Amino acid sequence: MGEFDLIARYFTRPARRAALGVGDDCALLTPAPGMQLAVSSDMLVEGRHFLADVPPRHLGHKALAVNLSDLAACGARPLAFTLALALPGVDEAWLQEFAAGLLQLADAHGCELIGGDTTQGPLNICITVFGEVPHGDALRRSGARAGDEVWVSGAPGQARLALGALRGEWALPDAVLATLRPRLEQPTPRVPLGLALRGIATSALDVSDGLLGDLAHILDASRVGATIDGDAITNLIAASTCLSSENPLFDTQQWPLGEAWRQRCALAGGDDYELVFTAPAPLHAAVLAAGRKTGTRVTCVGRIDAAPGLRLTDAHGRPMAGDFASFDHFAG
Ligand code: ADP
Ligand code: MG
Repeated sequence: MGEFDLIARYFTRPARRAALGVGDDCALLTPAPGMQLAVSSDMLVEGRHFLADVPPRHLGHKALAVNLSDLAACGARPLAFTLALALPGVDEAWLQEFAAGLLQLADAHGCELIGGDTTQGPLNICITVFGEVPHGDALRRSGARAGDEVWVSGAPGQARLALGALRGEWALPDAVLATLRPRLEQPTPRVPLGLALRGIATSALDVSDGLLGDLAHILDASRVGATIDGDAITNLIAASTCLSSENPLFDTQQWPLGEAWRQRCALAGGDDYELVFTAPAPLHAAVLAAGRKTGTRVTCVGRIDAAPGLRLTDAHGRPMAGDFASFDHFAG
């Protein structure tokens, strides 16, 4: 099968919202009046961003999910995406599964595949997404103000927990790994929450490299500091319903890895694609309502201070020590 047959077979579908889709030199999108285009790219490299044995269906899902997550963080509605793909060879069974995972998530978000590039080489997947957001309404990193509350979605740390088990850093009971593994391989982009937070959140980002490290980007861009309750974040893993009731191992008291590891997973683990955002304290109830409306757990974990720097405390307000640097591709 040649390059063009491959594209036609796996990645070409009739254009829907796009004025022109796959098959020409450019795709054409017609932005609606009053809307801004939100654009973001993310690349996935084998060995760096995924393990070689990850099921291709999950990989297709994740490649798009991490991009949709960036749109979510900006409060943008997904429109379309392009797919640049380097493949070692044509493996039809692999392509079938990869495309299924990719296009299923795309359809769930009404996000259309409108073009791309296909080449032979070490497996590498680069997606660019396009979304739309009313002019001036995009959530940014720079809008946090002293007095705002700091919120997180979901239960950060689950992806890192699964990764550690798959890498053999620690053991998890099969049933626990089975519930955690989708958090790593098929993360849920928080698109509905991002949309619901327009006009409420003052800043937002999605956590890809580690919660506290990524939060620092908001603090830098907004020129503020924060006081964060580390216990409130760490306890979310145990509190997440999928883990606590059926899997008592994850009760705070019976944590198998020790408290320090639980904190590291929650505060510095990457790959969860949860949102961290800030909102004015008087909008506390509005944030909770946005979470309810979109079926997303949201938890207030601290507040923004005028004084720069991140102050991490435990539930009693005592300073919490630890190394919570987030992942950096070029560090060390
Ligand atoms: P060109 O040589 O003009 O850059 P290509 O021959 O690389 O275009 O691609 C032909 C068409 O197929 C283009 O419309 C391109 O956007 C699309 N395309 C290529 N690879 C992919 C892919 N992996 N997924 C979707 N569309 C693709
Ligand atoms: Mg061209």
